[in-house]
Amino acid sequence: MELDFVRRLVKPAESKIVLLVMDGLGGLPREAGGLTELEAANTPNLDALAVQSICGLHQPVGFGVTPGSGPSHLALFGYDPIRFQIGRGVLEALGVGFDLTSQDVAARGNFCTVDEQGRITDRRAGRISTEKNRELCALLRQIRLPDVELFVEPVKEYRFLLVLRGEGLSDEVIDTDPQEVGHPPLEPTASSPEAAKTARVVSQFVAEARRVLAGHAPANMVLLRGFSKRPTWPTMAEVFGLRAAAIAAYPMYRGVARLVGMEVLDTGERLEDEFDTLERRWRDFDFFYLHVKRTDSAGEDGDYDRKVALIEEVDAQLPRLLALRPGVVIVTGDHSTPSVLRSHSWHPVPALLWSPHCRPDGVNRFGERACAAGSLGPMIPAVELMPIALANAMRLEKFGA
Ligand code: ZN
Repeated sequence: MELDFVRRLVKPAESKIVLLVMDGLGGLPREAGGLTELEAANTPNLDALAVQSICGLHQPVGFGVTPGSGPSHLALFGYDPIRFQIGRGVLEALGVGFDLTSQDVAARGNFCTVDEQGRITDRRAGRISTEKNRELCALLRQIRLPDVELFVEPVKEYRFLLVLRGEGLSDEVIDTDPQEVGHPPLEPTASSPEAAKTARVVSQFVAEARRVLAGHAPANMVLLRGFSKRPTWPTMAEVFGLRAAAIAAYPMYRGVARLVGMEVLDTGERLEDEFDTLERRWRDFDFFYLHVKRTDSAGEDGDYDRKVALIEEVDAQLPRLLALRPGVVIVTGDHSTPSVLRSHSWHPVPALLWSPHCRPDGVNRFGERACAAGSLGPMIPAVELMPIALANAMRLEKFGA
């Protein structure tokens, strides 16, 4: 549904909604005919909740699309991730917790290797260590350019964040990364007349970077892509009438939550800390987004057993959430990260939505196969979960007479 349409139906209520996201929750069997991580996990609390819930599998972004965590979270927050896109540079900034202002243009940087003719021989500079990355970023920080302030932040291995801050900067500059070796980096070029100044500034930065990094092979040049500005989007308060809070330990998730106007709460890294925060701040908000990162990391590491154990840990904390007497609870993942694939995947993601007013659908456990038979369906777009949650929270008016 369109946000503007939902906005017109929203009415105030006292009920609270909790969105519990286990990152990369969806999985696959380890061997043919086996169970997924979630199916193998012993989850008595989630299973009992499933009995009283509506269940299904959601499609984070679109059929067959393997999503990043940014877009799939936006969908869970009720924002169409195709319409509300986050530029790569901004995403990188969110990932390192860099607070972008409206004047900033962010880009993702790669250290790369060029030969004596300036042609790229390795787009990732032999995957230098993060430590080496930090040293090189310190060198790039010494670059001074007229009119703009410059920020360079190491990310990981060969990746860094570049932020330009100044008057009249635009993000309409094409990538300097030609995406293949054997060519020199592309000249920073404006794709609109307003971006002429920015393209000039980027050119100066690249020239200086080449000078500063000479002799630091394999990381003797930079590639820049995903020039982008912090988007200004309607907040969850404006659209859904919700005072929303995020309980997430990792910077990127905190950053995405901030883009939709959530207040990001202080919390520790452990699961217990996040539930402590939920209890402590329960009175202050209408909507809580609670994020569990490590299920995804276990999937990316190909560690089936660890992912199972982490799901069980979340299950053990669930009674603490239910004891707060929420109006609506959604438990799901942002996408699938099957440990057999060691990466995000396109597979739909198990979801349950509980409220005292939902119509239980006969699903009696929380798992991929069981959820596929649920009333939310086996392929519901993730973005539709939010309106259903609002309805169950008695926060939507009747449409039409
Ligand atoms: Zn994720």
